[in-house]
Amino acid sequence: MKSKRPRKPVRSKRPASKRRPAPTRSPRDPLLAPMAGASHRVVGGVTIDIMEAANGRVKRVCYPAGFRWSTHMQPIVKTPLCMHAHVGFLARGHVRGTYADGCEFDVSAPRAIVLDPGHDAWVVGREPAVLIEFDALGQTAARFGLPPRHQHA
Ligand SMILES: [Zn+2]
Repeated sequence: MKSKRPRKPVRSKRPASKRRPAPTRSPRDPLLAPMAGASHRVVGGVTIDIMEAANGRVKRVCYPAGFRWSTHMQPIVKTPLCMHAHVGFLARGHVRGTYADGCEFDVSAPRAIVLDPGHDAWVVGREPAVLIEFDALGQTAARFGLPPRHQHA
């Protein structure tokens, strides 16, 4: 029987002083640790853990540094803009975005967020953005009283 060799730690060739800190990848980081009972998936580089919650869901969504919806998700989703409503708590990171009419948003953790459907958004800086989000699948906007897409009354 083959014995498993212990994995060698991955070593960076860059001197320690030049290495980027990677605190968000630490397995000890409770914000990103594996989530018991959640279904886990990765879509367009975005890591999503989903817990069913009665007729809604609680999600932890991690957008990596460099992520932009129109670049990384649009080819998968195929709608011109993200048509999800986002209601939740930005626990880490910095996100900017625009709506079709030119309205902009710029949010940094810690911060509660409410985004209408019909936006593009991207992660600013080198830190991933981590969003704790509540949704109701296709009913999210209606459930939270948001318009079906961004508009002004
Ligand atoms: Zn607007």
